[in-house]
Amino acid sequence: MFKGKRVVRRVDELGRIRLPAEIINALNIKSGDYLEFFPREDSITAQKYLPTCVFCGQFENVIKYNNTFVCKACIEKMTASEDS
Ligand SMILES: [Zn+2]
Repeated sequence: MFKGKRVVRRVDELGRIRLPAEIINALNIKSGDYLEFFPREDSITAQKYLPTCVFCGQFENVIKYNNTFVCKACIEKMTASEDS
């Protein structure tokens, strides 16, 4: 397990860092994935970004629609309410 292991990376002139392979593998980060950053007082926490449904907040079966994310369950609820 990678947790707790100290890793130092240099920030380049554009503010970029290269993630250690151990972190990429442990979090299953793929090229093109997004990371979400949470600045703290004197540190930063980052996690793999998972888009969540704008209505219910869940992240499973989420579809992008007009720059927002909606889950299939909420789409089905909306479709059902339109039918009645
Ligand atoms: Zn939803």
